[in-house]
Amino acid sequence: MRPVEPIDSHHDYDLVVIGSGGAAFAPAIRARDLGRSVVLIDRGTVGGTCVNVGCIPSKTLLADSERINGPAPDLGAAVERKDVLVARLRQEKYLDLLDEYGIDLRAGEAELVDGHSVAVDGASVGAGAILVAAGARPAIPPIPGLEEAGYLTSATALEVSEPPVRLAVIGANAVGLELGQMFGNFGARVTFIDLVRVVPFEEAEVAEAMREVLEDQGHAVIEGARTERVSVEDGERVLRGTVGGEPFEVRADEILVATGRRPNTEGLGLERVGVELDPRGAIVVDSEQRTSVPSVFAAGDVTSQPQFVYVAAAGGAAAAENAFGVGGERLGLDSLPRIVFTAPQIASAGLTEAQARQRGFEVESRILPLDAVPRALVNGDTRGLYKLVAEASSGRLLGASVVADGAAEVIQAAVYAIERGMTVGEVASTWAPYLTMAEGFKLAAQTFTRDVAKLSCCAA
Ligand SMILES: Cc1cc2nc3c(=O)[nH]c(=O)nc-3n(C[C@H](O)[C@H](O)[C@H](O)COP(=O)(O)OP(=O)(O)OC[C@H]3O[C@@H](n4cnc5c(N)ncnc54)[C@H](O)[C@@H]3O)c2cc1C
Repeated sequence: MRPVEPIDSHHDYDLVVIGSGGAAFAPAIRARDLGRSVVLIDRGTVGGTCVNVGCIPSKTLLADSERINGPAPDLGAAVERKDVLVARLRQEKYLDLLDEYGIDLRAGEAELVDGHSVAVDGASVGAGAILVAAGARPAIPPIPGLEEAGYLTSATALEVSEPPVRLAVIGANAVGLELGQMFGNFGARVTFIDLVRVVPFEEAEVAEAMREVLEDQGHAVIEGARTERVSVEDGERVLRGTVGGEPFEVRADEILVATGRRPNTEGLGLERVGVELDPRGAIVVDSEQRTSVPSVFAAGDVTSQPQFVYVAAAGGAAAAENAFGVGGERLGLDSLPRIVFTAPQIASAGLTEAQARQRGFEVESRILPLDAVPRALVNGDTRGLYKLVAEASSGRLLGASVVADGAAEVIQAAVYAIERGMTVGEVASTWAPYLTMAEGFKLAAQTFTRDVAKLSCCAA
């Protein structure tokens, strides 16, 4: 543990954190480990998005939706199981830790007064350092008629106990795909509508594979489509817009809006104090999570960093270290994994081919279809692919994408390989157990130098 600086006694707390989600708890624990006093201030439910209305509830419902074998899938029962698990994890992973570590909690709306004090419902709390971890909320596009017609968000969708017969999902990135497929598994017919395409920020081949899966499941996918207005006609919600200059129309019983998340930066007094925001309204942080005001740090979805809870927690912990330690703690995002928990799963790490080229790399890439992977053949499910991107001159792995059952577990091998600067040649000569999806990662690496269709068993 680093030496602790003397506590500045004219502040109420060494660290005041606005928020109580992933970006708040990790730094609060780190501050206590460093012998510092800390208070979390939250206007909502302790635990923030991930445990209450994000990762945990969405994946619980998804898991139940995929387990259904019988003719009467029961979304209501899944919602009840989800509520029990959310309450348990909120207690064990958040509330219980307050006493465990000696972290104070105040309920209320917080606002920065200056770089060393925060107002909470009229009272002022003095801080050695402030961490803004206020998160984000669903962004609702200004589509005429949408408000009047009504819609679900990623939060309200988790409370629906009867699946709609026809669901229109606006936005086919992670949240739209996961919740759309979940309702689909419970019996809804889903139309996914996206301005660009399915998983717009991932490899085009990944998007293509996922689109085929959704269409095979009986869902519709409309890509490159702008929804321009929504109306209610004879009890139906009708979405109209254009795709490739041609009009489209979708009739649905319910609409899910999943067009990204907007940082909660309004009303926090950030502009007054001089904290810089980007054009999206997210807080700009440097590599040490510092804002443009030296005593104010920020982490998680309220910043322009990738919106994953593990990024939020790591960013918050780095902020606490940098506030009290010698500085220099930074997030290395080069090997960051990204998962979409659909079936099959979509997992990627590092750079896509387009991103690598944008950064000036000369790249070589290879695609291995899933029917070249023995595990997929024995499973009888060959939907998906592996794609690897390497630096052409050195063979260094820059990025990996996997669409497969279990892809979220497989990608961890790629995270290690990218993090440690391994070449595709080194990945190709590393052990991989036969009849695992992980073997597909090794086979994909082998495709850089040979035709893997002409190998015997065991990727050797
Ligand atoms: C449906 C869904 C599924 C997801 N699934 C995953 C997943 O599987 N894996 C993953 O890694 N990530 C997932 N995420 C993303 C993940 O939930 C977020 O990245 C993470 O929770 C962000 O944490 P945070 O601490 O930055 O913000 P939050 O957890 O949102 O916490 C912010 C807190 O600040 C409080 N607050 C805001 N303003 C004020 C104010 N002025 N005063 C007082 N309090 C305030 C809010 O009440 C809130 O509790 C998912 C998100 C969604 C929506």
